[in-house]
This record gives sequence, structure tokens and C-alpha cells, in this order.
Amino acid sequence: MSGPHQPDKTKSFRVRLTFLGDLSFFLKGGSQGNVLREVKERTSVKDLIEACGVPHTEVDRVLVDSKPVNFSYVLDENARVEVHSVNVTQHNLSREQLQSRNIRKFVVDGHLGKLARNLRLLGFDVFYANTAEDQQLLEVMQGEARGLITRDRRLLMHSIVEHGYCPRSGNGEEQTIEILRRFGLEKAIEPFTRCLDCNARLETVEKNAVIDRLEPLTKVYYENFRSCPGCRKIFWGGSHFDKLRSRVESMRAKLRDA
Ligand SMILES: [Zn+2]
Repeated sequence: MSGPHQPDKTKSFRVRLTFLGDLSFFLKGGSQGNVLREVKERTSVKDLIEACGVPHTEVDRVLVDSKPVNFSYVLDENARVEVHSVNVTQHNLSREQLQSRNIRKFVVDGHLGKLARNLRLLGFDVFYANTAEDQQLLEVMQGEARGLITRDRRLLMHSIVEHGYCPRSGNGEEQTIEILRRFGLEKAIEPFTRCLDCNARLETVEKNAVIDRLEPLTKVYYENFRSCPGCRKIFWGGSHFDKLRSRVESMRAKLRDA
């Protein structure tokens, strides 16, 4: 059999996609979760989904003509694609889930300082540097097997990104709740165990060991101290601590409310 003289590399066809859960957050205005796209031959379902503006890190399950597929699946003509966000597939579908829930440490984008501090306040291991370039974020993510948290969708679409999340809210506390839910972190919360400034695990210290570094009134009124092995700061109760404790309680209450 002889084919056409020149293989037709530009052949294209249309594919219909339905985005479920909150994925319409990423779609361009007015599409209500339904998108019709022109697709070239040999396009993977991952590339098609990202071309619609949805980072693969937000997609937990893909059905093509009602059958579950992985991200590398190559689309055929007339395929009907259903794309589920993580919050849609919490039931007994673990074999079909494309995202891991078991991420406990993160890289947080330099624009999300409040989120980074909140996560540290709750005890989570967070790399954060407000001057970090994208390349550094990716290197730390890959080198230390961290999940990438950023509102930069292009960055989440980078091919080396495996686990990540784009906070929907612009508010630091709401973003924190989103992360706790997305990665199922509620039971792993350990407040006041990590330094908010440098991320090191705090150590309990005897009052005597730090007494020379305390203000006179602090010496009188407080008995329990922790110190940071990273930046040498000393922590104790007091009005600042009370504020942080009410922030922790507020986040726990919101998490329960859901
Ligand atoms: Zn520190």
C-alpha cells in the first residue's frame, strides 16, 4: 500500500472536554467547564489539558470516552474527555487517581509569604525565600521532593513538576486551609514546633541555658523556653504567642467547618 506522497503532519481534529470540580477556575471566561479544542495528531491528554489553562497538578482523574487514562494518553478523533479536580475524586478510586495526597513538605513561591509562615506555624516543613527565582524553586522542589505551591500556573505546568497546587484564594489564611485540605494535613498539624523565620525545628531549652539573653521581665514571668538551632532566636509565651495561638485555633475551626 502506498500512502500519500507526503505524510500529513498537520492533520487536526476536535476534542470535547468537560472540566469538573473547581477546575473552571482556570478556564478562560464563560466556558462553564465545557471546552471544544482543535487538536493535532499525537497530542497527549496532559498537553491538551494544559493548553486549556489547567495545570496538570490540579487534575486527579481523566476519563476518555468514560475510561480512566494517564497523562501520556494520546487522543483520537472524536474523543470525549472528562477532567476531574482533586476534590471530586475522594472516594474509592485510588487506582485511578493521578495526584498524591501524601506530601508533607513544600516549596512556597516568594509571593505567598503569609501562607509560608502559616504552614510553618502549624509545623510543616516549608522552603520559602521571597527573592527565589523560578529556577531555584524548581531545583529545591526536585532535589528535596517537595510539593510546589504557587499561583503561577505556567510554573506548575513545567514538565519536572510532579506535585503542586495553585491556591485559589488570594487570602493567606484561606490559602492555608486549601493546602491542609488538598494534602490531607489535618492530622499532621504540630503547632509551635518550627521557626517561622528559618523553618528549623525548635528545641526545648532550660531557662538557665538562655537566662543571660532574656529581658528582665521575661526572666521573671516565664519558665518555658524554646530556641531555634537555625537562627538562634528564643521563644516563650506572651502576647505575641497568644496572637499566634488564636490564629492556629481559627484555622483549625475553619478546617472543621468545611
Ligand atoms: Zn530560626
